[in-house]
Amino acid sequence: MIGREDQVDVLIAGGGFAGLTLAIALRDALGSDFSITLADPTLGRSHADDERASAIVASVRRLFDALGIWQGVANEAQPILDMAVTDSRLDDAVRPTFLTFAGEVEPGEPFAHMIENRFLIGALEAKARDLSIELRATAVKSFSARSTEGESAREPANSLAIALADGSALATGLLVAADGARSSIRERAGIAVHGWNYSQSAIVINVNHERSHNGRAIEHFLPAGPFAILPLKGNRSSIVWTETAAEAERLVGLPDDAFHAELERRFKLHLGEITAVGARRVHPLGFFVARSFIAERIALVGDAAHLIHPIAGQGLNMGLKDVAALAEVIVDAARLGLDPGTQSVLERYQRWRRFDTMSMGFATDGLNRLFSNRSDVLRVVRDIGLGLVDRVPNLKQLLIREAAGLVGEVPKLMRGQSL
Ligand SMILES: Cc1cc2nc3c(=O)[nH]c(=O)nc-3n(C[C@H](O)[C@H](O)[C@H](O)COP(=O)(O)OP(=O)(O)OC[C@H]3O[C@@H](n4cnc5c(N)ncnc54)[C@H](O)[C@@H]3O)c2cc1C
Repeated sequence: MIGREDQVDVLIAGGGFAGLTLAIALRDALGSDFSITLADPTLGRSHADDERASAIVASVRRLFDALGIWQGVANEAQPILDMAVTDSRLDDAVRPTFLTFAGEVEPGEPFAHMIENRFLIGALEAKARDLSIELRATAVKSFSARSTEGESAREPANSLAIALADGSALATGLLVAADGARSSIRERAGIAVHGWNYSQSAIVINVNHERSHNGRAIEHFLPAGPFAILPLKGNRSSIVWTETAAEAERLVGLPDDAFHAELERRFKLHLGEITAVGARRVHPLGFFVARSFIAERIALVGDAAHLIHPIAGQGLNMGLKDVAALAEVIVDAARLGLDPGTQSVLERYQRWRRFDTMSMGFATDGLNRLFSNRSDVLRVVRDIGLGLVDRVPNLKQLLIREAAGLVGEVPKLMRGQSL
């Protein structure tokens, strides 16, 4: 039997970027009267050896700023000051630049920053603890519908009974699945996904180089897929290197000298000598969008709702847009005394996010298909396209604002406003 003290307004499953940010946004707006529990078996583990980095676009930086998180990590973040795009065969002697973007969305506001995930996750976890959000280092195991007598926004007649992996139980009016691409909550809720696997994987590594990158990000479109050089603080860059799945496995298994030669073939020597540092990681790439972002008293956010190709570095940014929209919808409902887990509230969230996600998902999928191939005819066509975009400043500015998440129905937090 679940007692009154075990009823929480929202239970968030997953303490990655999406889950932690949602918990902080809700606590920030609604205070401690609105009870939030976040469960994740990996909570509290050290992230010191996680070398992955993410591109945080301007709208997401505004969200972190509005929640008081950015100030603590700003020194670790490298602004992307401009971007160059090339399109050539692997062994072409020169890689002509077809498109350049000077990267500001407003004067003095870069369109994106690169930051290592460990700094951001560390700051989010610390903030959640400061705000006394209840954090449980365990998984959500199962859930089922539960009826109680009487009804109020705080104790809805229908709620979900939740079993946690540590043997404890609780009830909630809203379960948020922020449990990543293999979401077991999505599966248990019977929500199918539309999508496919690419027969591509991304090799992710960090590289030290002799000379400064001057804040420039470079995307080399090569026949096997994009090879992105993304600037980190200091003379370092994060590489996201796409290959066919089998070739990626072969490359990461090479001895150091041979791996270095393959890296240099793609990176070239424009920043002087390079050295790969840390582990070589391989991520198989796929694409899906959940058929629904909601079920009864359940909302999906982040990778639980969608997974996209990293070609445009937008996966996490889309997940945080879900978070900002869901937080706004929940806060609006709670302030009106409504039950945030009801269908009408969740449908507002789904209308806001699902179509936008489909468009971004198909845009990144299309880009990948257009660029990851060996056709010389297609190369000519796309290079004419890139060259045309390069000559139209207003179009470039629009593309930058779109990539920065500042176009369309932008949630308040992503405009830098508090809820
Ligand atoms: C190669 C590559 C490069 C990328 N680069 C970028 C980039 O530059 N910019 C960008 O925006 N995005 C990028 N992405 C995408 C980005 O990394 C993801 O979108 C993001 O990490 C997803 O965050 P999340 O919080 O939704 O899920 P996750 O980070 O997967 O977190 C899910 C959490 O849920 C927990 N969990 C799982 N099951 C349960 C359960 N049953 N109960 C409780 N907890 C559970 C897990 O322990 C985990 O901590 C990249 C992706 C790849 C593969």
